[in-house]
Amino acid sequence: MEKMQFKAESKRLLEMMINSIYSQKEIFLRELISNASDAIDKIYYKALTDDSLSFDQNHYYIKVKADKENRTLTISDTGIGMTKEELENNLGIIAKSGSLAFKSENELKDGHDIIGQFGVGFYSAFMVADAITVTTKTIGSEDAYRWHSGGADGYTIELGEKEEVGTEIVLSIKENTEEDSYDEYLEEYRLKAIIKKYSDFIRYPIKMDVTER
Ligand code: ADP
Ligand code: MG
Repeated sequence: MEKMQFKAESKRLLEMMINSIYSQKEIFLRELISNASDAIDKIYYKALTDDSLSFDQNHYYIKVKADKENRTLTISDTGIGMTKEELENNLGIIAKSGSLAFKSENELKDGHDIIGQFGVGFYSAFMVADAITVTTKTIGSEDAYRWHSGGADGYTIELGEKEEVGTEIVLSIKENTEEDSYDEYLEEYRLKAIIKKYSDFIRYPIKMDVTER
């Protein structure tokens, strides 16, 4: 007998998964901020074990920036960043949790701070965005890479431009529909409230910047 692999309509599956895991759209911001925090934790662990790196708490922060005119919400961090291979593996394979792998590779015990584990957190951003662009530069790399996806049907990776090590995630926020409002994810008071509700415990500063229309 030949063993066959199931095929799946990834776009449909992703929509179903995201909508069943997350009851509320606003959760996407918690997921992206927790990934940013995980990325800063990783650079911290690296600094602990690598004498050539220093860890200055002041250089590590997360920034949330809304641009109403361009309908973009940008979440950036000064964390460890990703190589091209990591971009492919971490953002190209749905439900493969890089954080879970990182935890077992580094023998971190349960209850440790690295938050991610389901491997779908990143994609929750597709609840509010119709396109996502990730620009990232990892520690020790000259090159930055730009990952872009207009939905679960695929993505592209090309060379990008970024000065500092870290990751910048730009969400193109969906247009309002009769049933759903997305404009609120460009509003400072709303973003602040979501951050307060879910990300109060994050150990790094979360800076906010809003450009009015
Ligand atoms: P999880 O957090 O459960 O691993 P996610 O879908 O939230 O799953 O993220 C997938 C992986 O993508 C992460 O494990 C991490 O390796 C990588 N990643 C996501 N966001 C960032 C970021 N801001 N900086 C560095 N790596 C990131
Ligand atoms: Mg995550």
